[in-house]
Amino acid sequence: MSTVALIAAGGSGERLGASGPKAFVVLAGRPMLEWSLLLLREVCDRVVVAVPDGHVEAPDFVTGGSSRSASVRNALAAAPEATVAVVHDAARPLLEADLIRRCIASLEGFDGAIAAARVTDTVKEAAPDGRVVRSLDRDSLWAVQTPQVFRADVLRGALSVDDEKLASATDDASLIERTGGTVRVVEAPVTNMKVTTQLDLRVAEAILAERC
Ligand code: C5P
Repeated sequence: MSTVALIAAGGSGERLGASGPKAFVVLAGRPMLEWSLLLLREVCDRVVVAVPDGHVEAPDFVTGGSSRSASVRNALAAAPEATVAVVHDAARPLLEADLIRRCIASLEGFDGAIAAARVTDTVKEAAPDGRVVRSLDRDSLWAVQTPQVFRADVLRGALSVDDEKLASATDDASLIERTGGTVRVVEAPVTNMKVTTQLDLRVAEAILAERC
């Protein structure tokens, strides 16, 4: 069995408003990408990173694709030996080793085991004009995150679709669900946040500084 981590770090990070790609923004003294890279190297046999064109500056760095899942596909293509794939977004630098291990252990009997948080807000579906259509039962709702751990052969199959389908997927698990694959959620710590805005960056920096 070979467990390979695939880090999606190929985005431009426009919403963050930084001068370069988000994964390379320095956070508590290190490029954001490095926080999860070092941790995944401890837990997995190998780590492949998909980065924007022009940033392939280390072994096991590959050029990302035009969408997040296309970047994951490029990283997986560089790891033909993988039997288990641990997909992670560089934009979640507060990853913890325990969460990675719990996701890997939870793969038993499933095609995918994905980090997720229980939804604490009430969620409503609304029409384009803002009129509420219905309220959803939040007891069964989960906000999905990364890491997302998959049987590598199942992920390879799910990613073998055209670029348009890849671009419409907001996570890799949904591609597997579409093909009838089984996926389960694994409860993540509240700190496993995604850095999207400058406010997220400040919060993540404060938590990482406390951990050091
Ligand atoms: O844009 P967003 O924050 O949702 O991206 C999630 C992750 O996907 C980020 O770590 C980003 O670098 C990565 N990504 C990628 N290739 C793309 C677009 C995003 O690896 N083409």
